[in-house]
Amino acid sequence: MSFTLAIVGRPNVGKSTLFNRLVGKRLALVDDQPGVTRDLREGEARLGDLRFTVIDTAGLEEATDESLQGRMRKLTERAVGMADACLFLIDARAGVLPADEVFADILRRKSARVILATNKAEGAAADAGVLESYALGLGEPVRISAEHGEGMGDLYAALAPLV
Ligand code: GDP
Ligand code: MG
Repeated sequence: MSFTLAIVGRPNVGKSTLFNRLVGKRLALVDDQPGVTRDLREGEARLGDLRFTVIDTAGLEEATDESLQGRMRKLTERAVGMADACLFLIDARAGVLPADEVFADILRRKSARVILATNKAEGAAADAGVLESYALGLGEPVRISAEHGEGMGDLYAALAPLV
């Protein structure tokens, strides 16, 4: 069975940007399938010689009657339940926000295998946020820029032992 990685984190940290980078054009195949949930997008990721299934918690950005917090929790718990490991993204430029702490708590409680990644980490403006992220207690963060494709080697090194 294929290894499944869930990309989780609050809205706007860059989950979909990373998902698209990992999945590339193969996303189109996923989107064309009928009945594919809009809340959790699934795709076949490639990172170097690694092949795995990746889940993007995409429904978080959609406005519903439910509170964002409640929706985040439900979607994240669903994604965690489907995944062998979670890639927990924070925005290194924003630093650790209260909403990030909510996710960290969910991941700790679900005792999922968690890799912490600090995204938007291109340039020195991200340095403080990267350092701050150690306080989440989720280990050493993988410093990446999903938009610019930086840190993919470090992400590979973090994932390779698991996949
Ligand atoms: P999501 O809500 O977590 O899925 O976040 P998105 O992937 O939609 O990205 C939110 C915003 O952050 C978009 O404007 C992206 O272009 C931007 N973004 C994503 N990755 C990076 C990055 O590595 N660096 C910077 N500077 N911006 C990024
Ligand atoms: Mg998204």
